[in-house]
Amino acid sequence: MFEKLKASLSKTSSLLREGMDRVFSGGAIGADSFEELEALLIQVDVGVKAASEIVEDVRERVRRERVQDSGQLTRLIMEKVAAILETTSKPLQVSGLPPTVYVLVGVNGSGKTTTAAKLAHRWVTQGRTAIAAACDTFRAAAIDQLEAWSNRVGIEVVKHQEGSDPAAVAFDAAHAAVARGRDLLIVDTAGRLHTKKNLMEELKKVIRVIAREIPGAPHEVLLVIDGTTGQNGLVQARVFMEAAGVTGVVLTKLDGSARGGIAVAIARELGLPIKLVGVGEGLDDLKDFVPGDFARALFASAPLPGGSSVTS
Ligand code: GDP
Repeated sequence: MFEKLKASLSKTSSLLREGMDRVFSGGAIGADSFEELEALLIQVDVGVKAASEIVEDVRERVRRERVQDSGQLTRLIMEKVAAILETTSKPLQVSGLPPTVYVLVGVNGSGKTTTAAKLAHRWVTQGRTAIAAACDTFRAAAIDQLEAWSNRVGIEVVKHQEGSDPAAVAFDAAHAAVARGRDLLIVDTAGRLHTKKNLMEELKKVIRVIAREIPGAPHEVLLVIDGTTGQNGLVQARVFMEAAGVTGVVLTKLDGSARGGIAVAIARELGLPIKLVGVGEGLDDLKDFVPGDFARALFASAPLPGGSSVTS
C-alpha cells in the first residue's frame, strides 16, 4: 500500500529532492537554506502558512539539536509535515446502525463519481452491501456514468430523469437503502460552481432530506478535491464548506500530481481531515489517508540520515 502511495507521489517527491539537493549543494545549512526551503515547499503547494510554520519549527530544531546534514534536516521536515497532518486526522465514520451514508461533493471533474464507485467497491469486496444515488441530475451523462460504474461494482443505483429534483432522488435512495437493508448509501452530487447559489441550496436540501429520513446521517460529507489543481482547490473547497458542512476530504489524482503538498495546506488552512486518497483510475485505487505514511511518501526521494532513503 505504501509503495503505491510512494509511486503516486513520485513527481512531488522528485521535485522536493531536486530542490533540496540545490538548497544543500553548498554543504552547510545556513540562513539562505531556510528561505529556499520555504520557497520549495510553496512550490509543491504546501501553502504559505504551513511552509512558514514548517521552516520556523525546523530552523529552531536545527539550532537546538545542532543538526548539520541534509538527511537529518529531511527527517525534521518530514516529522513536522506528519504532525500538521495529524492535527486534523480522523477516521472515516461508519454507522453502527446501517445504512452508513456518505455524500460526495466537489466541482465537476474532481473525481466524485469515480470515488463513489471505488468506495462502493471497497464495501462490496469486504462482504458488505451498497446502493448509490444519482443526485447529479443536471447532466444525463453524470447519471449514465454512475450507472455504468455501479454495474461494474454490482450495486443498484437510484436515479430519476435528467433535470429532476436531486432532493427527490436522495429521498427515494434513503428509503431504498433502508427498505433493502443496505450497509452503505453513497450519494453522488452535482458540482457546477458557476451557479453557486443554486448549488448551495440544492446541496443543503439533499443533506436535509437525508438527515430527516435516516437519523444520524449523513455520516460523512466528503469533499472531493483534484490533487492536481493546487491552491485553486482550496478556493473551491471553501465554497463547498459553506454549503455542505464538509466533514472530510478525498484527495484524488495524486498519481501524476506534482502538487502533493496540497494535503498539508488542506489540513492547515481549511482545518479539514483528509480521509482518503485517489491514486489511479481503477476501482482499487482508493487508499486510507495515514499522515505518517503520506509524509514519508512525500519525502521518499529525499536524502535521509546516513545517505539512505525511505523504503517502506
Ligand atoms: P466528477 O465529475 O467529479 O464525478 O469526476 P469523475 O469521477 O467523472 O472523474 C473525472 C476524471 O478523473 C475521470 O476521467 C476519472 O477517471 C479521473 N479520476 C478520478 N479519480 C482519479 C485518480 O485518483 N487518479 C487518476 N489518475 N484519475 C482519476
